[in-house]
Amino acid sequence: MKIQNYIDGEFLNPIADQWIDNYNPSKGEVYGQIPDSTKEDIELAVTAAKKAFPAWSNTTLNERSTILSNIAQGIHDKLPELAIAESKDNGKPLSLASAIDIPRASSNFQFFADAITQFSSEAHESVGLNAINFTLRQSIGVVGCISPWNLPLYLFTWKIAPALAAGNCVIAKPSEVTPMTAYLLADICNDAGLPNGVLNIVHGLGQSAGQAIIEHPDIKAISFTGGTSTGAHIARTAAPMFKKLSLELGGKNPNMIFSDCDYEKMLNTTVRSSFANQGQICLCGSRIFIEENIYEKFKEDFIHKVSQLKIGNPFDKDSDVGALVSKGHLEKVKSYIDIAEQEGGEILYGGNIVTVEGSENGYYLQPTIIEVSSNDCKLNQEEIFGPVVTIMSFKNEDEVLKMANGIQYGLSATLWTNNLNRTMRMSKQLETGIVWVNTWLMRDLRTPFGGVKASGVGREGGFEALRFFTEPKNVCISYD
Ligand code: NDP
Repeated sequence: MKIQNYIDGEFLNPIADQWIDNYNPSKGEVYGQIPDSTKEDIELAVTAAKKAFPAWSNTTLNERSTILSNIAQGIHDKLPELAIAESKDNGKPLSLASAIDIPRASSNFQFFADAITQFSSEAHESVGLNAINFTLRQSIGVVGCISPWNLPLYLFTWKIAPALAAGNCVIAKPSEVTPMTAYLLADICNDAGLPNGVLNIVHGLGQSAGQAIIEHPDIKAISFTGGTSTGAHIARTAAPMFKKLSLELGGKNPNMIFSDCDYEKMLNTTVRSSFANQGQICLCGSRIFIEENIYEKFKEDFIHKVSQLKIGNPFDKDSDVGALVSKGHLEKVKSYIDIAEQEGGEILYGGNIVTVEGSENGYYLQPTIIEVSSNDCKLNQEEIFGPVVTIMSFKNEDEVLKMANGIQYGLSATLWTNNLNRTMRMSKQLETGIVWVNTWLMRDLRTPFGGVKASGVGREGGFEALRFFTEPKNVCISYD
């Protein structure tokens, strides 16, 4: 099957007629082709977006909100089809795509359909000077949205929905590894009444299609989610052009477990926060620190729980762990496991590539637990982004805080404790954009989302996203 670009409301082949193979990672086989788009395709998309912008930015908020709600409904109506496509393209269990990825993509549109009707700006009265200032929040124009492969439609829509709600026209590129649901979204947008050219979806490689987006002088803002080194490259390219940038980058998140926590809840959640989506979530708690008085018990119980996870074809109802997204990624993750010993680590569970019956060429890896003795090793400092966690013990709050912060990343942290004072002390000192206490990945879409340090710049979510996708202009009126 060949998928096409979606430009100016139409489905088009890439101008250069070049194509890239698309793989089903659970089978390790090519099942389709996607456009290998170039600068010329991006140019076509930008022309369409510029043409659509004046009308779209002037639609009433009710109209915009209704169209975005229609898209939300369209995703909801096609949930089974989209979930199958996501699972096939990415390797994630169908149960996960059906319960999380696709419903959240629909919620993203519904959330911003509602949020835009509640968005407001400030007024400042200059008392005693007979003047009033008000802030106009205007649409930016044409914006670029670039997203990764781990939560394909979920993250793609998380950017597109606020960009459109704020009245911008969008050039969007999904990861070339997982293009399918973005392609299916285009049809839903047409059916929902989104005017031509308002959303343009261009498929292709980061270094060509993506690069053309970030370099284009008429694309005024870039919202990017992906790896830290790609984010740095985008910042270097876009900064001299003074583009607005939102960068959601890598993470290597601490999961800190104190003995006074609710143990069962912690254990069950920690299995999830370690291995959900094969550990390919930027928010996974891949560095697990356990207070020393419960370390041995935790180790035994955690290994036992993890050993019960079933690795299998993503379409099997009882598969807990599916395939990794690509062969290249499987090899990268495995290379970290292979250096465990020389890093002073001990593989307590897993570590092996798995052959799944009927899917012998798929990219399956056991969930892997490695015991380490130092936070300074590569296994603890580098983002592996797969089903691999490290565990180590700590003595006290100060020590674990130092290790949690002792890393270039700062996306999220999870804290397990029932001590309120400790919760407050640590939440304030953790160098991350998000802290979860006695839970993980509980998301309220109104809250600011993003990281600090090498995990990114800027925040998404709620009104933060609408602020990013609008330009504030102060108007000062003097009166007699
Ligand atoms: P990459 O950085 O490799 O790619 C992300 C996107 O950027 C892809 O669409 C990619 O295209 C594109 N891209 C690559 N090079 C360029 C370029 N020169 N110009 C413009 N676009 C480019 O990340 P992955 O897809 O491998 O995703 C995994 C990473 O994403 C992990 O580091 C993870 O932590 C991070 N992530 C962060 C999240 C957060 O919210 N902070 C959430 C989810 C993931 P292509 O795929 O075609 O190369």
